[in-house]
Amino acid sequence: GLADRLQGTMQKIRGKGKVNEADVKEMMREVRLALLEADVNFKVVKDFVKRVSERAVGQEVLKSLTPGQQVIKVVKEELTELMGGEQSKIAVSTRPPTVIMMVGLQGAGKTTTTGKLANLLRKKYNRKPLLVAADIYRPAAIKQLETLGKQINMPVFSLGDQVSPVEIAKQAIVKAKEEHHDYVLIDTAGRLHIDENLMDELKDIKELTKPDEIFLVVDAMTGQDAVNVAQSFNEQLGLTGVVLTKLDGDTRGGAALSIRSVTNTPIKFVGMGEKMDALEAFHPERMASRILGMGDVLTLIEKAQMNVDEDKAKELEKKMRTASFTFDDFLEQLGQVRNMGPLDDLLKMLPGANKIKGMDNLSIDEKQIGHVEAIIRSMTLQEKEHPEVINSGRKKRIAKGSGRSIQEVNRLLKQFEDMKKMMKQFTNMPKGKKKGFKLP
Ligand code: GDP
Ligand code: MG
Repeated sequence: GLADRLQGTMQKIRGKGKVNEADVKEMMREVRLALLEADVNFKVVKDFVKRVSERAVGQEVLKSLTPGQQVIKVVKEELTELMGGEQSKIAVSTRPPTVIMMVGLQGAGKTTTTGKLANLLRKKYNRKPLLVAADIYRPAAIKQLETLGKQINMPVFSLGDQVSPVEIAKQAIVKAKEEHHDYVLIDTAGRLHIDENLMDELKDIKELTKPDEIFLVVDAMTGQDAVNVAQSFNEQLGLTGVVLTKLDGDTRGGAALSIRSVTNTPIKFVGMGEKMDALEAFHPERMASRILGMGDVLTLIEKAQMNVDEDKAKELEKKMRTASFTFDDFLEQLGQVRNMGPLDDLLKMLPGANKIKGMDNLSIDEKQIGHVEAIIRSMTLQEKEHPEVINSGRKKRIAKGSGRSIQEVNRLLKQFEDMKKMMKQFTNMPKGKKKGFKLP
């Protein structure tokens, strides 16, 4: 990820103390390469790097004690900016039904997304959508939508595959009015490639139904291609939004960046799986984190900076880096961390934390903090610094001394162990070990 690359450079710079313009330039080269690797459009990268550079050579970075992190912060802010603000609004027609046309290439996820969107509209917004099967070409496309409709218990309008899509759309709207549906979601046909026949048909449907939204559904895995697809659909039809599907897969999400800036069309939703509840509003900031390849570590750093005094924060950072974290540190941090908000949230912000086995065990109930403190206070100095010496006899003594059960003592020891492992992972991340190869 981008963060990995930057941190390598950061490490070098850290040793030098102050950061200068040449250092920033070097970092920007890494940013550029990483974005291109993430399949972001060339022109977008160029403009982006220019903007970040301007900010990065400014005072906010050069004067900072942690220039590398500051650069990442600037990068993240600019990435977020590039993908627009909060854009997950959906049109509501003053004269119902609101018509939404779903368009895109074959296999992008139109039919699935039509089902998901209907589901979301009903569950979250209490709407009453009608699904319309207007893909008469792909074998079993109608059946597929009907099956999804059954799954989410929602009506699907279809006239078979012998009636033209335009006619289907027309009659669907009449029906929607009769039956007081407030949304009509039209699932249209796709092709493997953009062709004129497809576009003409879509234009006809648009002409007739005057849709309030035209959503392009694109597969995030297709990277640069997704951008070209978005551009030509936008030119021909005028899109109002993009749905980026298959983000649950192994993609960095570079397409998200380019689509937004090349077509100037907001990404409104992201598909996170095949299930009917796997559609989420698009959050530029989360996508920026994803592209950076990190958990929400910046928020964590910011919180630490706000709530912990600076010396302590540096000490904590160093300890996390070296993973030389003892129960005494833990105890001390508990107090400080308490001021930052729920512990679970904080732990989840650590990069890669969601991928770590046993992460669930890490969550600590706020109410249990007192118990945890009691247990730690019952440990000897040696036990606090070297918890591996805690055998069953010692566990019994600690449990007794703290008035907690042996199971609780065990749980805490396990949590502490997991936390240290997580910190180690955090420390190792910049070296690219996640991908399973070693650097020479
Ligand atoms: P269409 O040809 O555009 O209508 O595409 P479909 O809706 O038939 O989807 C094609 C395939 O992609 C199906 O197997 C879907 O289950 C799958 N799919 C759609 N959206 C997602 C998603 O967000 N994540 C994953 N993993 N699969 C998806
Ligand atoms: Mg389909």
